[in-house]
Amino acid sequence: MRIVFNRMLGKYRSILTVSTGVTLFVAAFSYLGALQSLELSFYDAFMRSRPPETIDQRIVLVTVDEATLARLPQWPLSDADLARAIEAIAAQSPDVIGLNLYRNVPINPGSERWLEVARQTENLIGVEKIGFPKVDPPQILAELDRVAFVDVPIDLDQRQRRAFLSVRKSDLGHRDKSPDPDLPSNIRLSFAMQLSKMYLDKRGSHPEISQSRQATIPWGKARFQPLVGYEGGYAYGSVPGYQILLDYRAGQPENFTTISLEDVLNNRVPMGTFTRKIVLLGTTAISLENFLYTPYAYGAISAEHATPSLYIQANIVSQIISAVLDGREFLRAAKPTIALLWIWTWAIGFNVAYWAIIISQEAPKLRPGSLGRPLLFGAAGTSLVLIATSYICFRNHLWLPTVTPILAGLGVGLIMLIRQRSSLARLATTDGLTKLANRRYFDVFLDRCWNYKKTRGDLSLLLCDVDFFKRYNDTYGHQAGDVCLATVAEVLADVVRKNDLVARYGGEEFAIVMPCCSIELAERIADKICRAVYQLNLEHRGSDAADRVTISCGIASTSLGEFAQPQDLIEEADRALYLAKQEGRNCYRVLYSFASPASTPSVSSLPTPHPDPEVDRTP
Ligand code: GH3
Ligand code: MG
Ligand code: MG
Repeated sequence: MRIVFNRMLGKYRSILTVSTGVTLFVAAFSYLGALQSLELSFYDAFMRSRPPETIDQRIVLVTVDEATLARLPQWPLSDADLARAIEAIAAQSPDVIGLNLYRNVPINPGSERWLEVARQTENLIGVEKIGFPKVDPPQILAELDRVAFVDVPIDLDQRQRRAFLSVRKSDLGHRDKSPDPDLPSNIRLSFAMQLSKMYLDKRGSHPEISQSRQATIPWGKARFQPLVGYEGGYAYGSVPGYQILLDYRAGQPENFTTISLEDVLNNRVPMGTFTRKIVLLGTTAISLENFLYTPYAYGAISAEHATPSLYIQANIVSQIISAVLDGREFLRAAKPTIALLWIWTWAIGFNVAYWAIIISQEAPKLRPGSLGRPLLFGAAGTSLVLIATSYICFRNHLWLPTVTPILAGLGVGLIMLIRQRSSLARLATTDGLTKLANRRYFDVFLDRCWNYKKTRGDLSLLLCDVDFFKRYNDTYGHQAGDVCLATVAEVLADVVRKNDLVARYGGEEFAIVMPCCSIELAERIADKICRAVYQLNLEHRGSDAADRVTISCGIASTSLGEFAQPQDLIEEADRALYLAKQEGRNCYRVLYSFASPASTPSVSSLPTPHPDPEVDRTP
């Protein structure tokens, strides 16, 4: 365990950079609202899995369900029946009556009676819709200033997860020319807010609602705080007005005391049913199409998952009065900074989990693709812990991103996988001691250049061999020999052009593949190499060539004639190298007579390659 921990510590820099980068990347997506629907699916699942709460006895619903609708003498209800129903409810002295029915035209018979009852029932509130499409309120209630709006914010998937407490005129697309939109006269209260306010007013609890829409509103035992853009995966600007997350009285949104309108009209309601209650009158018959969807509507939405708006309004009222009177906590979305920190923490968590699994396994990096499975286990395990933690926070009224950190975790895993693949690929083509290309990659590269040279210029090859290296080992030891080889390799890599490939050909031999390189240029490079190694001034007492480490090079180039295959080029360079060795070492050689292998190789016109004038090149 300690070993794992210590090795993890060594990885902290990579863990931090990868996690931070991935966090910023996914957070940017999330702030654009791109991950919202995924986040909401977790939100819904969390909400559905909460245990039910008790029924809110302060609210009673008078409903027109399908059965009532079938038996009513007419629909829409006549003004006479509506007046009779309101009278019957008001007779039991409820604190407030909410009429959740659109009644913008008189429906005879009984319009006079309705006007009279509406006027007399001072705690009766009507509804209007102020956003598009607009629906006017009952005219008489509008005149009496007893109207509130029932518009609701709906998410793209048609579900209602938020509720308005109030809006300013401009919030719902209306032109607002007033200089101060936050003036109380410019703020409209929602239906649920209006009902709650009247109910709570009677209990001595008054909110301070004439404030800006960002404000915290202290009210009884509650502190209202609005949901704003960037919270809960909502894009900036997509949360107008003063909204809160709608925390349904868990279990079922329909969980309220319900009386049918028919019973009210027929005086079959026991005395005291409405007394000091909030009474909401509206339709629950789905055929009347006044419904919405909630997080309880699982899967694809259809009418059978619909929740009548009346229940949703009742839930909002219940949420407000429970918060004010009972101190029921609000469900809140994490602030953007907290959410970012949360995602970042989990990105690190995923990263640490991955490393812990990788390190605790035996040498997994040696096998290609061996990381896939541990990463998958790490991702699955960490995701489960994350979901569980999110759920616990949700149960404690804090909604944190869940999908975004999982995506960050997967992103971190993907980066690790890609990194492992590329480091394996590097390992497979690199020589461990010199960090140059290995023999295998040399073969591949030479083949590639061979095909390439057919169309583009000459290909030259250098074979270089450290002089008297066996003696170097004998004199200074094998380890010093290794250091010497690595140093020489560095020099070679420095001297060649950008597109040339320096490979460790074997032992103390190096090969340099030089595409698009004439023999003249190859000679210049070979000369540079011999000089550079000489100038390293690495002491070599055992060498007969010089007092220091030197190197010999053989050159072959397609500019000197036709070669049948790459192998011929190698052999030619090898013969040239042999000649360089024979001719005193610490020099380079080219064979110009390669075309007739039968004849003795001659040095022909090659200038004496003398890396340094002070060197005696005679063996
Ligand atoms: P010459 O000038 O003719 O090339 O003589 P040489 O001694 O360099 O040639 P030889 O082929 O006889 O010896 C090469 C030596 O290189 C033998 C081997 O011990 C040493 N050698 C090969 N690979 C390594 C290595 O990775 N590390 C060390 N330290 N020595 C190596
Ligand atoms: Mg050798
Ligand atoms: Mg050698």
